[in-house]
Amino acid sequence: AEALDAAFFARWMTAMAGAVDREADRLTELDSAIGDADHGGNMRRGFDAVREELREDLPATPGAVLMTAGRKLVSTVGGASGPLYGTLLRRTGKALGDARSVGREELAGALRTGVDAVTQLGGAAAGDKTMLDALLPAVEALEGNGGKDFGAARAAAGQGAEATIPLQARKGRASYLGERSIGHQDPGATSSALLLAALAEADES
Ligand code: ADP
Ligand code: MG
Ligand code: MG
Repeated sequence: AEALDAAFFARWMTAMAGAVDREADRLTELDSAIGDADHGGNMRRGFDAVREELREDLPATPGAVLMTAGRKLVSTVGGASGPLYGTLLRRTGKALGDARSVGREELAGALRTGVDAVTQLGGAAAGDKTMLDALLPAVEALEGNGGKDFGAARAAAGQGAEATIPLQARKGRASYLGERSIGHQDPGATSSALLLAALAEADES
């Protein structure tokens, strides 16, 4: 499979910005059920800024694209999701190093590093009804196919997000609701599914 360059990673981030624009109302609706109704706005503000930054100045390497995007998210998105998505992208980007293009298997490994960093920062595990419930199965799928099948990662993330519905939240704002968090899809898992869908979309375009 062909290597992935900085332009590919910019396409990924731009596709995510578009997906978040389209789905912002839904993300906010989900967050109004078990949170504070700002997840759509948070993600939109962050990825709009990322798209703008990459449009003005495209970094030379895949690692730099993701680190730039992650820094932008940290500086523009408040709340829980800013630092968590910021860490995901910065640590994934750092793991890619300074090569001008990277292989698909390398991306799978780097994403594992990024997701591990999210786990460390937020202290959540699988089944806690967070973004990790989409990210972890997606990375597992990607590792399982050597990074070759982004579509499988998209499907795993989407299923993981849906599987948060019957869970009780144990981390983040939704955990304050206790059992009343049951029966609603987690907003962060839903936006993480969009991130994996955007990766597959970037590969198709
Ligand atoms: P806030 O809760 O600060 O308003 P957002 O609404 O933007 O932030 O994001 C909420 C999402 O963040 C949740 O749906 C959940 O997926 C994710 N989240 C919250 N806390 C954690 C955590 N400790 N670890 C992983 N993800 C978390
Ligand atoms: Mg919120
Ligand atoms: Mg908030």
